[in-house]
Amino acid sequence: MKHLIIFGPPGSGKGTVSQEVAKVYGIPHISTGDLLREHVSKKTTFGLKAKEYMDRGELVPNSLVNELMEDALAKSECRKGFILDGYPRTVEQAEELEKILNKLNLHIDWVINLNVSDEEIIRRLSTRRVCKVCGAVYNTVTNPSKKEGVCDVCGGPLILRDDDKPEVVKNRLQTYAKMSAPVLSYYISRQKVLNIDGSGDVATVRARVLNTLEEKMRVK
Ligand code: AMP
Repeated sequence: MKHLIIFGPPGSGKGTVSQEVAKVYGIPHISTGDLLREHVSKKTTFGLKAKEYMDRGELVPNSLVNELMEDALAKSECRKGFILDGYPRTVEQAEELEKILNKLNLHIDWVINLNVSDEEIIRRLSTRRVCKVCGAVYNTVTNPSKKEGVCDVCGGPLILRDDDKPEVVKNRLQTYAKMSAPVLSYYISRQKVLNIDGSGDVATVRARVLNTLEEKMRVK
């Protein structure tokens, strides 16, 4: 019952909400963006290839991300559940995911779709800051660090992600509309989608998501 996908445009809060859901249910949070950024920072061959696409706000080729996901999902801890964040982002990836899960005798229970307007997304991403060292996420307006520009967790410097720069954000939103919105139709036709209002602060969105999931799990 806890094999979940979180879906929504860049900046809709997928990462933050998934971390909360993962904590509450004790399931792994699997983010393709985080896995890719780890490869980029370690400068692996894989990471160097992915970086070219990420810096332009384009999708990394399916072959690369599918391989990442297959490895991540094969881990035994995923049997009790998981929350996928940032994957699948194309219909082809959704089809590949189905094949991977079939092999593991698993299936997706729910797709949480966070709805947020473009205006709010652009505002959120331009004020998002991440720690260059540990990856902790802040927002200069809604969730500032105690000391400006310094991570509360590890003291590392806070930066604007390269792909959160306004010109790249525009590209990411266009890519989302073109490539990823059809993924939603794929899951709507399979009656898996839970539409959730993603506007407002983290606590409000978290409560909406958890209440909806609890309700669905009670009914099933
Ligand atoms: P995110 O942190 O999820 O916004 O992902 C950051 C970037 O990583 C995206 O803009 C893409 O370039 C790449 N990326 C993440 N997930 C995928 C995916 N499922 N397919 C292709 N590229 C991805």
